[in-house]
Amino acid sequence: MEVLLHEDLAALSDLDEQSLLESLSQRFRQDRIYTYIGDILVAINPFKYLPLYEKEVSERYKYHEKTKLPPHIFAVADRAYQSMLGRLATGPRNQCIVISGESGAGKTESTKLLLRQIMELCRANSQLEQQILQVNPLLEAFGNAQTVMNDNSSRFGKYIQLRFHNSSVKGAKINEYLLEKSRVVHQDEGERNFHIFYCMLAGISPDDKDMYGLLDPTQYRWDIVRKWGEKYSEVCNAMDMVGFEEQEKVDMMTILAGILSLGNIMFEPTETDAVRVTDKSMGWLKATAGQFGVQEEELLRSLTCTLSVTRGEAIRRLHNQQQAEDARDSIAKVAYGRVFGWIVRKLFKNFAVNRFEQLCINLANEQLQYFFNHHIFLMEQNEYKEEGIEWESISFKDNKPILDLFLTKPIGILSLLDEQSAFPQASDRDFVDKLNSKFKSSPHYEVVRSHSPLFTVVHYAGKVQYNGLGFLEKNRDTIPASIRSLFINSVTPLLSLLFAATISRTGTLMPRKAKVGTVDHKIFRSPIMVSVSYLQHSLAVLMEKMFVASPHFVRCIKPNGSKLPDQVDNKILRYNGLLETIRIRRDGFSWRPSFKEFAQRHLSILLNVTCVVGVFFSCLSILNTTEIHGWKCGSSRMFFKYWHQEELARLLERLGKA
Ligand code: ATP
Ligand code: MG
Repeated sequence: MEVLLHEDLAALSDLDEQSLLESLSQRFRQDRIYTYIGDILVAINPFKYLPLYEKEVSERYKYHEKTKLPPHIFAVADRAYQSMLGRLATGPRNQCIVISGESGAGKTESTKLLLRQIMELCRANSQLEQQILQVNPLLEAFGNAQTVMNDNSSRFGKYIQLRFHNSSVKGAKINEYLLEKSRVVHQDEGERNFHIFYCMLAGISPDDKDMYGLLDPTQYRWDIVRKWGEKYSEVCNAMDMVGFEEQEKVDMMTILAGILSLGNIMFEPTETDAVRVTDKSMGWLKATAGQFGVQEEELLRSLTCTLSVTRGEAIRRLHNQQQAEDARDSIAKVAYGRVFGWIVRKLFKNFAVNRFEQLCINLANEQLQYFFNHHIFLMEQNEYKEEGIEWESISFKDNKPILDLFLTKPIGILSLLDEQSAFPQASDRDFVDKLNSKFKSSPHYEVVRSHSPLFTVVHYAGKVQYNGLGFLEKNRDTIPASIRSLFINSVTPLLSLLFAATISRTGTLMPRKAKVGTVDHKIFRSPIMVSVSYLQHSLAVLMEKMFVASPHFVRCIKPNGSKLPDQVDNKILRYNGLLETIRIRRDGFSWRPSFKEFAQRHLSILLNVTCVVGVFFSCLSILNTTEIHGWKCGSSRMFFKYWHQEELARLLERLGKA
């Protein structure tokens, strides 16, 4: 094996947690942030600039031989691209790259680098390819925010699909999951709102500021970081590149300005226990109405009272102060969520889906972990058994039971949440009580004794305590009819469109009417709401796509909790599973083509042989003419180590050139 020692951890013969940590940290100290475990790339976030991504590096990794160059994220791009073109190996032509790791580990940066290199590989210069590269700055401006964990934390999940014809990109689409909308109205200590607000306030020209009705940054409830000034022009450029029209940009910025003004409206109780807008904020009310293009009185009404119709009779219930504040916040969230969803759909004129928060994000990660386990451990070892390969099995931590805890119907966490959300009277406490009674004996669930509706899930990556407060409301996520009609009547075309339309399951926009009568949605809910059942559905669709593609894995690691360069905590291996992953990559057979696939592809190796009977014997003859050893035969397929694939590809290439 030609692999340099330590560049591939699967090549280490003596392996325990200590030596693994040592190898990784030793490499990291020399700024070697990338390491292979067989065909899996481990990437440790350097938290500093490294000259690893220059033009000449990118050139060097194009069509490279894996063993000749140090591990690199560009190598993953290259491999996926070449596999798609059928140059490397047999297997599904669809490729999928799964990038995982905790917050701040470097997933977003890795994704950008991957996309960039893929565009380089297909010699991208068409408009579409340029647009694809502009997608990230836009998505980040609207979907990322500073958190305690990461100054540029993605507050939504995404799945990017590129469609190729021959060797160039022919289409792209993006799905976004679970935007954390609540961030618009509330940020915890040390956290901030979505970047776009800071960009806009810091970077906007005085003329535009007037046009959008924006005031000085100090007038708003949060302070503005200077560095975001330059970002604004970047965002505007990206919008032009991607094809936003002038009017759409103006509308969008005006809506954002409206959200800012709305956030400044304060309430006070009246003598009769109802609520009114404070004198000081009357100006903000007026500004908001102007920016949203709605009637001031109508806006005031939707903030201060609820209209309900019972037996044909309209009843107006006045809000108290809390209810008025909640109404204000939910208008802000709903408007922001709509704008974000619209941007994403607009990016590739394709589909988009939204929301829920940490629990949903963790569930999505759990699902990806499952995919990883399934692929790396389960499928592989099952095949050994089926094909009669001698093998000492490697155990791994299976997270299927955790997924089941969430997803089983009708008594998983999600189903129970949906069920409780359907009862208008049910409270978050009822929901958590229900969970407690159903799951108290599950090894992955812990009851928390507290007045608050808390519960703990033992996730794959560790325990997480959830506060169930607001779960039902967020899952219902319905928009009161009055707010909907407020916006539908807006004179701003974009707002009116965003609320007149509804997002279908396939993500295409359709007129609201067309939705009535479909069986998918429960009647008492607004069809716009995207509940956990929707999440469940979209995760299932995602998994279907991934299971029919050839996967590539990038595992990002955060070296320390302080976002500092050149420091590795001992805790970085807390993500367990790395050791087992190394073992299976070292000892296992990650490439398992059928006899036929293998023989067809490699027949040219048999230079002088004119006739071999049967695919099985062809395989044997082929391999016997090479110097490759360590492979095995099953009953219907061949079993190869991950490096055999490279060796054979090299051999074929030499023959091709000869
Ligand atoms: P989250 O889950 O919160 O979105 P993430 O895994 O996407 O986190 P990133 O935003 O990609 O994390 O990385 C956090 C920060 O780490 C980046 O803003 C950047 O400063 C730094 N970083 C990540 N990867 C690299 C790299 N390859 N080179 C230099 N700095 C990096
Ligand atoms: Mg990110």
